[in-house]
Amino acid sequence: MEVLVGETCCPVIASAVRSDICDTYMITIQEAAQSLYYQTLGLQRRRAINRIARKRRPEISRFFRMQEKLVLAALKERSHLFSESFQKLTENSTQFTLTNWLLAWDEIEAGTNAELHSTLAKVEADGLIKGASTTIADVGTANIAFDLSNPRAVAWFSEHAGSVKYIKGIQTTTQNQIKTILTHSIDTGQSYNKTAKIISEKFTGFSRQRAQTIAVHESAQAFESGGYLAEQQMIDAGLVLEKAWRDSGDELVTPECQENSDAGWLPFDGVFPSGHLHPPRFPGCRCWHITRRVPK
Ligand SMILES: [Zn+2]
Repeated sequence: MEVLVGETCCPVIASAVRSDICDTYMITIQEAAQSLYYQTLGLQRRRAINRIARKRRPEISRFFRMQEKLVLAALKERSHLFSESFQKLTENSTQFTLTNWLLAWDEIEAGTNAELHSTLAKVEADGLIKGASTTIADVGTANIAFDLSNPRAVAWFSEHAGSVKYIKGIQTTTQNQIKTILTHSIDTGQSYNKTAKIISEKFTGFSRQRAQTIAVHESAQAFESGGYLAEQQMIDAGLVLEKAWRDSGDELVTPECQENSDAGWLPFDGVFPSGHLHPPRFPGCRCWHITRRVPK
């Protein structure tokens, strides 16, 4: 028996009883069941990503705390450049300058790149493996094995995991935020103590919100990629797959992500309207991708 339900006002099976009052966007109960299944899948994946982020975030926080110590130590070494009598920071040839600071930062950045790389690689390894194993279980292809020695995983790691560009991006964001604080200090004649306190507070923010954002994004990026790599392996093994973009369905979904969802099922190697092969589209994106087998 085919029962019609309205997707807009009756998104889950339980709502099928309302089919008599909703006649727009009609879908079958089988499609409603499938939609519910994919939403559940998304929730399970989000939980898995959050578990990885929760486990690894403290390590990212520790990285920022370690970097904070180096930054404050470098600033303290230059505290004599702050005006003693007025406890002010002014820009002139004998006192603290941004150029002076940038030289110190270059050393800090070069000295912390390796630590940042290994910290992020741990998050990504967890995400990649979990994403692959989850997808293999969901698609039901027990004969597919995936681990970090897989050639695709190795290639992905060399391109993504702690890539030079990505590491540089994180370090540059930190540098710019410190630079903004110092510029303000110079412009307003702020004291060394006050400046050090503001920088310390900024790192507190880094070790909380920013570490959380990085942990979640890295976990999601690696999880989705792990699933995608496992699916490529399934295609190698002879399966024909197609994919779709799914979003959280709430008011926080961006128009671009919505457009990707609206694109429906695409061939597996197809590109979504945003230009992505799979989510996440940006840090904070909560989307996921799903696949289904296409009968040969
Ligand atoms: Zn999204």
